[in-house]
Amino acid sequence: ENYQASIDRYKHSQYKRCGNSGLRLPFVSLGLWHNFGAQNNLDLARDMVLRAFDLGITHFDLANNYGPPPGSAESFFGQVLNTQLKPYRDELIISTKAGYGMWDGPYGDWGSRKYLIASLNQSLQRMNVDYVDIFYHHRPDPNTPLQETMQALSDIVKSGKALYIGLSNYDGEGLLKANKILQELGTPCVIHQPRLNMLDREMENERVLSAANQSGIGTVPFSPLAQGMLSNKYLNGIPSDSRASDPDGFLTPEQITQEKLNTIIKLNEFAKARQQTLPQLAISWLHAKESVTSCIIGASKISQIEELMATEKHTALNEDEMKALDLILQV
Ligand code: NDP
Repeated sequence: ENYQASIDRYKHSQYKRCGNSGLRLPFVSLGLWHNFGAQNNLDLARDMVLRAFDLGITHFDLANNYGPPPGSAESFFGQVLNTQLKPYRDELIISTKAGYGMWDGPYGDWGSRKYLIASLNQSLQRMNVDYVDIFYHHRPDPNTPLQETMQALSDIVKSGKALYIGLSNYDGEGLLKANKILQELGTPCVIHQPRLNMLDREMENERVLSAANQSGIGTVPFSPLAQGMLSNKYLNGIPSDSRASDPDGFLTPEQITQEKLNTIIKLNEFAKARQQTLPQLAISWLHAKESVTSCIIGASKISQIEELMATEKHTALNEDEMKALDLILQV
C-alpha cells in the first residue's frame, strides 16, 4: 500500500531486444526461486521486488514450484501485484513455468498437454492474473512427443493466457527442433532460459547460444552467479547468511570445492583490476555472449540487486578480456 514507483525507474537500464521479437528486457531480471516462499521474510521479499522495479527491473521470473512450499512464491508475487504493483501491470513482464514435479499423479510433471494447461491455470489463480507474459516449458520431456508439448504451448498463447512462449533447459539441438514446430504453428519461441555462468559452461558447449542466435531467440541465463559462488563470500568459509548454509538452499557446501575457490580467487582479482566486483564481472561476461538479452538473478538482500544493476555502468568486456577469462576458466 502507498507505494509509488520511482519516477526515475527507466533511467537505469537499457532494454535489449529479446531475439527477433518485439519484447525488450532489462539488463538483469529478478527470479523468485529462493527467498520469496511462505517460509521467508516476506516484508523483505516485497521490498526487494519493489526496489527492483524502482531500478527499472520490469521482468520477474517465477515457476509453479517456487517456494517452499511449491506455489507460495507465485502467491506472494500475486499479493504484491494486487496491492503495490496493481497500477503497473502493463509495465511488467511476468513469467512462469511448468515442467518439474508439482502435484501427485501422472498429470503433475513433465510435458503433457494435460499438465501444462492445468498448471498454468493454477499459476494464474495463485497470482490472480488473467495472463502471464511468458510461459515456459521448464525442461524437455523425453517421453512426450515434442509435437504435443509445442502444440499445448502454442494453444496457450492463442487462448490469451500467455503472450510469449519460452523454453528452458533445452540443449541446442532440442531448441532448434522445438522452435521449428512452434514456427509452423505460428507461435515461435521467443526466449530460452539455460543455466549458464562462468563456472558452468555445459549449456554453452551444447551450442544453446548459437542455436538461439541463428533462430532469433533471446537467451536469459539463470544462476548467473552460480547461486552466489561467483562472489567473494565463500573465500573464508561459509557465512551463516548465505545460500550454502540455508537448509532449503539448492547450493550445498560440498559444491564449493577448492578447485572452484581457486578459480574464484583469480576471477576476483580480474574483477578488481577492472574496478568492478566479481558478481558484476559475472553479469558482464554473460552480456558479452551472443543472443544474451538479460540475466535472471536471485537475491537475498536489496543491496545485491543494486550492485548487479550497477554493472551496466562499467564498460563492456572486450575480446582480449574475454580470451583472458577463457584462460582462467580453462576452456
Ligand atoms: P544467482 O546465480 O544469481 O544466485 C543468486 C544468489 O546469489 C542470491 O540469492 C544470493 O544468495 C547471492 N547473490 C546475489 N547477488 C549477490 C551479490 N551481489 N553479491 C553476493 N552474493 C549475491 O541465481 P539463482 O541461482 O538464484 O537463480 C536465479 C533465478 O533463475 C531463479 O530465481 C529462477 O527464477 C531462475 N532459475 C531457473 C531455473 C530453470 O530451470 N529455468 C533453475 C534455477 C533458477 P545468498 O545471499 O543467499 O548467498
